[in-house]
Amino acid sequence: MRPLIIGGGWSGLAAAVRLAEAGHNPIVFDAAKQLGGRARTVKWQDRELDNGQHLMIGAYQNMLDLLKRIDIEENSVFQRRPLDLKIIDPDFPPLHLSAHPSLPWQIALLPKLCSSLGWQDLLRFLRIAVQIKSASYSENITVQQWCQQTNQSSRLVTQLWMPLCLAIMNTPIEQASASVFASTLRDSLLAKRHSADLLIPNKPLGDLIPQPARHFIEEHGGEVRLQNRIEKIVIESGKVLGVVTSHHEFIATNNLIVAVSPHMLYKLLGEELTLPKVIDYPISTIYLQYSPNFRLGTPIIGLSNSLPQWVLDRSNQSPGLIAVVISGPGEHESLTKMQLTEQVLIELTKLLPELPANYQTAHVIREKRATFCCGVVENKQRPSCKTTIDGLWIAGDYAENRYPATLESAVINGYRAAESILMGNLP
Ligand SMILES: Cc1cc2nc3c(=O)[nH]c(=O)nc-3n(C[C@H](O)[C@H](O)[C@H](O)COP(=O)(O)OP(=O)(O)OC[C@H]3O[C@@H](n4cnc5c(N)ncnc54)[C@H](O)[C@@H]3O)c2cc1C
Repeated sequence: MRPLIIGGGWSGLAAAVRLAEAGHNPIVFDAAKQLGGRARTVKWQDRELDNGQHLMIGAYQNMLDLLKRIDIEENSVFQRRPLDLKIIDPDFPPLHLSAHPSLPWQIALLPKLCSSLGWQDLLRFLRIAVQIKSASYSENITVQQWCQQTNQSSRLVTQLWMPLCLAIMNTPIEQASASVFASTLRDSLLAKRHSADLLIPNKPLGDLIPQPARHFIEEHGGEVRLQNRIEKIVIESGKVLGVVTSHHEFIATNNLIVAVSPHMLYKLLGEELTLPKVIDYPISTIYLQYSPNFRLGTPIIGLSNSLPQWVLDRSNQSPGLIAVVISGPGEHESLTKMQLTEQVLIELTKLLPELPANYQTAHVIREKRATFCCGVVENKQRPSCKTTIDGLWIAGDYAENRYPATLESAVINGYRAAESILMGNLP
């Protein structure tokens, strides 16, 4: 029987690619009209945009491996740029996170950090970096508690750790798991020069992985069925028997990968498995279309102590287009789209005077369930890929691994589920 995959996000597609290339003809079901899940292309007027800005970095080894498997050259879809981030704050001078090109990686970040922070804060930064390298932090604390334990200054907390934590984990520092934050920093900022590279996509998200992956899966004997919601997973005597689709079709299988968001996982399997109810956090993106000849001058700028957190130049998708990102929960969730845009513009005008006075059009996309809350407790409750039900595997970014909800985490778990099936030697 063919293996089935519920979910055509990056995780389900990663699993399907592995199974298809090994000759197992998987079938992918997705409830939506298009592939990609939480990292997909959306249409706005005549433009193709991303449903949200996805920061991708050189440390995304599994995501880059997936690209290779589906025959996409990295440089045909990404522009690789050395880490170079400026974080602007209303109360402090700008903070530069950028590497000296000719110094060894271990010390390459220090000159810019020292000139923007001063010696005392640099030493505090190093205290955390050393703990990450030697894995000598506690597993059971939040990022905020970690900052207190290592005596981080209010400037470092506000201008560096808070924005980085929200960007990486979409979870406020008061809740975010220090252990997951540390794993991510160890594998990116503190690993090798190229791990910290920014990968700037030159195509909409759907054309990076979802569309080429579909092509690969179908060419290798697999199938993708869109607008096919799985209503029920049929399990008997601790064994998977198949699924029932929204078209009332029963499809039998003895290997099923469930690669959906945690919320949907709970709906599908909450009665069969011990799963916690997950808290989801939002991400809002405000697209501002300026005159086509406007450029930000850098791919991304960080803002701290302000409602808008990251400003990205998306001229490669539409000349003069800027994307403004607000991660995590907050009072902004109760604003209308118009109020949110107005509030964002007030703050942008103060912090980024180089932005033109007037924009042409604005478009707000709110993803209410962008990621799961990656708190200390919540992280420990993530389910493992292998379940107690014979033939049932959990993928998706939520399944247990050392990263928060990211594309890399989604691909890792998709691979892991597919490998488990392959190791079982399907007939
Ligand atoms: C706005 C935003 C910004 C983000 N920024 C970043 C970032 O900067 N960097 C980063 O690495 N990550 C980022 N993420 C997180 C990243 O997008 C997710 O971690 C990743 O896409 C999750 O992929 P997935 O395949 O696990 O799940 P999903 O993408 O949720 O895919 C699940 C799929 O299952 C389908 N489905 C659900 N239920 C059913 C059913 N019953 N039957 C059939 N199909 C079903 C859904 O339609 C969906 O297509 C961001 C997410 C958002 C929303």
